[in-house]
Amino acid sequence: MDPKGKILLVDNEPANLVALQAVLEDMGHEMVLANSGRDALRHLMSDDFSVILMDVQMPTMDGFETATLIRSRERSRRTPIVFLTAVGRSENEMFRGYQVGAVDYLVKPFIPEILRYKVAVLMDLQAKTGELKAANEELLALNVSLEERVRARTEELEVQGRELARSNEELSQFANVASHDLQEPLRSMSTYLYLLERDSGAGLGPEARSHIASALEAAKRMRQLIGGLLAFSRLEIPGRQAQTVDCGQIVREVLQVLDGVIVETEAQVTAGDLPTVPGDPAMLRQLFQNLVDNALKFSNGVPPRVEVGGELRHGEAFLWVRDHGIGIERKDFDKIFKLFKRLHTLEEYPGSGLGLALCKKIVERHGGRLWLESEPGKGSTFYFTLPAEHRDGDGMQNELEAVRSGGS
Ligand code: ADP
Repeated sequence: MDPKGKILLVDNEPANLVALQAVLEDMGHEMVLANSGRDALRHLMSDDFSVILMDVQMPTMDGFETATLIRSRERSRRTPIVFLTAVGRSENEMFRGYQVGAVDYLVKPFIPEILRYKVAVLMDLQAKTGELKAANEELLALNVSLEERVRARTEELEVQGRELARSNEELSQFANVASHDLQEPLRSMSTYLYLLERDSGAGLGPEARSHIASALEAAKRMRQLIGGLLAFSRLEIPGRQAQTVDCGQIVREVLQVLDGVIVETEAQVTAGDLPTVPGDPAMLRQLFQNLVDNALKFSNGVPPRVEVGGELRHGEAFLWVRDHGIGIERKDFDKIFKLFKRLHTLEEYPGSGLGLALCKKIVERHGGRLWLESEPGKGSTFYFTLPAEHRDGDGMQNELEAVRSGGS
């Protein structure tokens, strides 16, 4: 909008138009003159004005009719109209003027200062309205561009997510196939070593026999590692529905499996009341088993004391496995969850370095978190959470949905 603004002066008396022009001249606004209502409408067709000063009494089309038509057009709906009227007109007439959209009245003969003052106020108001409108439009445009950027970024993330899911799937399929394929030659190797020892062992010297024993031991360990890798890669290929799983029951089963070690190490294992969660029973069994197994294993030779506990907290199951064993240094907290990472030699403690990586994956697959608190020499507590109910957004449910619809 023109910062100076334009004024439309409407009067059928040329003398009145000249008088108006003379009063407003030094304000610096461009003025357009119209000598009838129709003439005014014609100007309004092609031009925008900041203020319209209009005589009420005009032949053919009076000020009120003209104002009604001006207001009916979108372009001039909000242009302020000041009526100029002769002295002694009734209040009724003024009321009608306001009804058709006048913002003010000036009674003729008007006082020049007042006319100038009113025009200045209206011009200022129009300029401010224009600025506000422009700011609003700018804001709207900004909003649209922001929405557009959010939409584009979301789309980008979705594509990346699908890409990641696909490459994860490919990787786990590769690990699955590779571990399967590796098992076969390994089995033959073990068999031939076994046959060699059985059929020709007696004729070999003690050194050669010890080499065969070491090779058999290494093959056994490799079988365990491949088995672990296979279990890990299978976690990437679920296809099972979440079931209602009683963690208490799962822990009882795990303790039965580990009974031999418990008796052998004279361990004390206690398990409190544990929550029921939606999940995969086989995976959760594996999770508890790995954690309790570690708690029994890393005990520094004294009879291990292990506690398994859990409760519902803020709508999720909060569970833990605590031991009073050798503990872990804080700097190793992240490391121990990585595939094949161990902090000890096989001679110190047996193991494959797969257990905690599996645990982490199982918990995350269920939509939970796994972490630990530990101090060397004092023991460790492994904590994990699991969503307690079936609800939209649960990791497990989402994973299963994703699998059904072709995702990872
Ligand atoms: P593994 O037990 O087969 O070695 P894990 O992945 O289960 O493999 O554990 C990785 C490493 O984390 C272990 O080798 C051990 O050093 C450490 N660790 C795990 N659990 C405990 C525990 N309860 N106490 C002390 N160290 C532990």
